[in-house]
Amino acid sequence: MMQQQELAGAGLRGPFPLSSDAIEEELVERCPGTYALGFVDHLGRFAISYVGSAGEDLKSKLKAHIGTAAQFKFRHFADERQAYEKECEIFHKFMPSGNILHPSRPRGTDWTCPKCRR
Ligand SMILES: [Zn+2]
Repeated sequence: MMQQQELAGAGLRGPFPLSSDAIEEELVERCPGTYALGFVDHLGRFAISYVGSAGEDLKSKLKAHIGTAAQFKFRHFADERQAYEKECEIFHKFMPSGNILHPSRPRGTDWTCPKCRR
């Protein structure tokens, strides 16, 4: 059952309103993480329109998106690689309409996507 809930929620916390107040309240300073932007649909499900990750500072990256979506979900990771792999996982699972291209590998790394190995 826990597993089911985890999959349904993409393993992220939220949704929260995509506002400066909510971001300040929920996120930690200077910490990597993965985020999804979207909205709650008429069935009460979170519909993901965009997925991304931040290798250093999820908080400031998310703030740059204010105004582009109604809500966000996120998860902090201690490690940049985990944030990237989570981004890839969500990209393949949900194919968000705002993500035209596959997530790009963080600069200076040779990490591959856990789903398609590219
Ligand atoms: Zn991939």
